[in-house]
Amino acid sequence: MKKTAISLICLAFIFNSCKVQDRVVIKEVVKTPEVIYPKNVILMIGDGMGLGQISAGMYHQGNKTILEEFPVVGIHKPAAFGKLITDSAAAATSFACGVKTYNGAIGVDKDTIPVKTILEEAEEKGLATGLVATSTIVHATPASFIAHNKSRKNYEEIATEFLATEIDLFIGGGKKYFDRRADDRNLLNEFKGYQLSHYAEQELDEIEFDPNKNVAYLTSDADPIPAAQGRDYLIPASKKAVEFLDKKASQGFFLMIEGSQIDWGGHANNSDYILTEFSDFDKAISAVLDFAKTDGETLVIVTADHETGGYAIQEESTMDSLVTAFTSTYHTGTMIPVFAYGPQAERFAGIYENTEIYHKMREAFNWISTMQKN
Ligand SMILES: [Zn+2]
Repeated sequence: MKKTAISLICLAFIFNSCKVQDRVVIKEVVKTPEVIYPKNVILMIGDGMGLGQISAGMYHQGNKTILEEFPVVGIHKPAAFGKLITDSAAAATSFACGVKTYNGAIGVDKDTIPVKTILEEAEEKGLATGLVATSTIVHATPASFIAHNKSRKNYEEIATEFLATEIDLFIGGGKKYFDRRADDRNLLNEFKGYQLSHYAEQELDEIEFDPNKNVAYLTSDADPIPAAQGRDYLIPASKKAVEFLDKKASQGFFLMIEGSQIDWGGHANNSDYILTEFSDFDKAISAVLDFAKTDGETLVIVTADHETGGYAIQEESTMDSLVTAFTSTYHTGTMIPVFAYGPQAERFAGIYENTEIYHKMREAFNWISTMQKN
């Protein structure tokens, strides 16, 4: 009898505990909404694309830009380490590596120590990776995602670093840094497992990318020409890149696409140059956004490294006829807008340092951050 009584008490106790636990579990389910992380992250950088460039570009296109379709907008603070006015190398390194560094630095910190880039980390984690640019592919912005060099000017050294990471796709100019070098190496013969081609052999449009290989396409010998002079590969390259990487990557991909020459229009104080390059980039964003909308698992972030030219729209302007002015032939210190679409886009609202773009992308991928934030 005694035993039974004890057993009954025990049973009652267990039953009670279960009830309590059940209730807790139910509460948790109600409380926690499902968190959706993107499979793919596409970072699009309009080099030198400040709010003046976006505004003028939008008015020039009949008061329309695809950026209006991005539900989340934030602002980043673009300063470099030790310099208020950043260059493209320090800025791209802050996006790629999450560190503030000196102007001219490619994937290295302020003490010239290499820092792993988000592209390299994506490769390590089994994601597919890609870089597309309308400059040479060894230029500051794309270079900072794959190379580690104390100076952005070491183009041939940067080119060799494309062999060190098994990047799945790269499209951009600068063939001469690969095949006509001071060290007499022809890097184009050293890429193994790549479907490799260039502007003199084949049009990009004619190439069917083989998802069993990696892809490299060099669009020019040195700098690609401006869009106004006939460069027309950014839009097809962006489309082909997302389709290829999506096909290739069961675990997702990281892709950086740069509209490189908005900046060059700013340096040249040439408003038409800015407007035609913005229009080209806007259409590339549109192509990428179409993919992201259909895909549903892709986070797209559009931003700039810095503004160039102190470009401003003057009082005499009308929507159809813009009168613009410049205050500089270099970059300026104005804060830079960030546009985000897709899962985890809300992370990009607010005002933050440019290094946060790196941390926010990693958090969006749901990679546990072990790095100290700068
Ligand atoms: Zn520049």
